[in-house]
Amino acid sequence: MLDIHVFRTLSDNAGALILDPATKACAAVDAPDAGQVLAAAREKGWTISDIFVTHAHADHTQGVAELKAATGAKVCGPADAAGSAPLDRILKDGDTVSLGGSSFEIWHTPGHSDGHLTFASTASKLALVGDVVFVMGCGRVQPGQMGAMWSSLCGVMTLPDDVRLIAGHDYTLSNARFAAAMDKANPAVAARLAEAEAAKTAGRFWALTTIGEEKATNPFFRAGEPALAEAVNLSGASAGEVFAALREAKNRF
Ligand SMILES: [Zn+2]
Repeated sequence: MLDIHVFRTLSDNAGALILDPATKACAAVDAPDAGQVLAAAREKGWTISDIFVTHAHADHTQGVAELKAATGAKVCGPADAAGSAPLDRILKDGDTVSLGGSSFEIWHTPGHSDGHLTFASTASKLALVGDVVFVMGCGRVQPGQMGAMWSSLCGVMTLPDDVRLIAGHDYTLSNARFAAAMDKANPAVAARLAEAEAAKTAGRFWALTTIGEEKATNPFFRAGEPALAEAVNLSGASAGEVFAALREAKNRF
């Protein structure tokens, strides 16, 4: 099993380190800020050997060159990140990436960005979902890409309930408030909203979740439920249409 450490970088970006304890191979997931990621690795006593880039946006790639220079780590990520991060290996859908004894399947999950990748390891019960899935939310969708984003989310939702997800940001409290407004009769959402408020008060960073928890509380995962269709006045519509309406509603929330 992989050890994981998820922490705040910049204002709300997730820094994440994944360690294979047997081989000590350690991957940084994106690099919003090289200094903060290095400090976190030092604190854990882990040596970064790899950098996994989920997508090309600057807040995920801007520290990659400096982190690679400091560690000699091998960098892999999507082709459209090559302009902003020094990639040693370009990944595409269907590829496999190893970290020590663990391996991740690479899934192309567009919608938030064209080249966005999800790193999925069912055996290690871990998926790196970048800005596709957030705790109780999902990433912003590019114009005209609602269908692509819905397909990407549906792909992630095929993972088993006990798979942990590392998301790219902590927007948890805002997402929980939106979820509570859309899914009013869901006690799991109400409980998680209370937890999100407590986390905010305590200054606890929260970008780690599981498929099962998202299935229970994430309004975008739950777009196929009648209650969510009703919340956006689309009873009887397809889950994909409800998803798009929910995402638009979140933009205005
Ligand atoms: Zn992004």
